[in-house]
Amino acid sequence: MITQIERSPSGRARCRRCNEPIAKGAVRAVFNGTVMGVEASESFLHFRCAIDVDAVSTEAALALFDEPFDERAELTDVLRQRTRAIAECKKPVAERDPERMRVEGARDPSGRPRVRVLLAGSAFSWGTLPSFELDRVTKDRTFRSSKREYQFVVQYTGIADADEDPSQPVIAAVFAPFAGAKVMNNQRLKLTSWRDRALPTPLLWVFTRAAQTAPKDEQIQGLRALLDDVGYVGDEATVCVARGVNGSTLAALAAALDESVETITPPKVDARPSDLKLAAKIEALVADRAESNARQALTHGLLAVRLAKKNGAIAASVLPHLDLRKLSPAGRDALGRAAVSALAMDNCLDEAIALLTLTLAKSEDPEPLVASATAPILAALTRLLAKPSKTLSDHRLKDPKRLKALTSLACAHQIKGRTAPLLVAIADGRADRSLTTLATALLAAKAPRAEERLLRWIDGLAEGDPRVTLLAATRRTLMTRAKRRAAKRA
Ligand SMILES: [Zn+2]
Repeated sequence: MITQIERSPSGRARCRRCNEPIAKGAVRAVFNGTVMGVEASESFLHFRCAIDVDAVSTEAALALFDEPFDERAELTDVLRQRTRAIAECKKPVAERDPERMRVEGARDPSGRPRVRVLLAGSAFSWGTLPSFELDRVTKDRTFRSSKREYQFVVQYTGIADADEDPSQPVIAAVFAPFAGAKVMNNQRLKLTSWRDRALPTPLLWVFTRAAQTAPKDEQIQGLRALLDDVGYVGDEATVCVARGVNGSTLAALAAALDESVETITPPKVDARPSDLKLAAKIEALVADRAESNARQALTHGLLAVRLAKKNGAIAASVLPHLDLRKLSPAGRDALGRAAVSALAMDNCLDEAIALLTLTLAKSEDPEPLVASATAPILAALTRLLAKPSKTLSDHRLKDPKRLKALTSLACAHQIKGRTAPLLVAIADGRADRSLTTLATALLAAKAPRAEERLLRWIDGLAEGDPRVTLLAATRRTLMTRAKRRAAKRA
């Protein structure tokens, strides 16, 4: 960062950014910072160059330097616009004022626009070689082609995106995996957040490890399928292959960027509030039957509802990869409705139940949501209890949690007909532990008439039927409850 503004005592220093000499007596900026985690020795920049490198700290340093100089008033204006635009970008996309974000684009001393390129993927995770190589072959991760000054921003996966600066917009994102490396979930999240911010289709910059000659076609196809999967549908990603980061691979990447940046238009920004956007996204994923992405989006919705403060604010540190800083009552209800739609998908059931349960608990007027959820809850319960869909019956045996969550949701909101699928499943059930699981679920529903029917059914079983033994404890509970109810009536 820029720590001080001063007059250059000699003409010996060169500018850290543009490498041109800084004249004796000129106003210059002192740069102190860390490079690769190590304290870098003090270096200097032209004042104009410093504005592009770090407007926020330059403005702060200028406030402590009170000498007049030629362009002081003009450059103070530029700085003020820049820092205001940067601050505006911290708001959710829908709440930004485009007027406050209007700034003149940053350019290098030769007039090339300065743009930023985000780098993420396994090749740019903490401590992997390409990130160190990038620091070795560039100064401050800056690279110039004949057309642009590229500022590479390494986006360690799982960490929030860097602050936006409209004077040097992000024009490209480069997803750089190692050939053959499995794409981790947090890398997928990073791509999703790029898509949510309407960044253009990322370039694939694939790194081959020493032993391999080139990534296989199916690996490249798999990566393209991943881009499709997170919503980068339609335009083809350009693929660059490299063994390591050096001057010529960077030149090749910059050439690909120079070309693709002009041809690829970024996807449209959705201007709705981000909570409504998340709800709409869940519904769209459910409609597409995109299970794993729907599950992830539901989890984000669940976290948002759980972590929103009373006034709806969500701390940026909690969901750094999501553009979601506020949850309105309308947004919460929309997430509840999205959860209802997701009840239709067996593999999203756990997340959908959890999100619906929580939104209902927090809603001020849950009735409309309960009404719209009734049929889907019963349908999910019936599916869950239907005879042997293999995964579900296995799941039911090993982990009755899902059944319990669904029945207690139905019970808490007095969903009519909630015990019927349970009674049918018990009557059709196998004589094994799944039968006791079902009976426990029915007991949890606390429905007197259903309990009476179950008791009659157990008593109607033939002597020696193994189900009599399996349900002995259930029968005792049913008897106790029936007696208590009779005593209450008397
Ligand atoms: Zn300079």
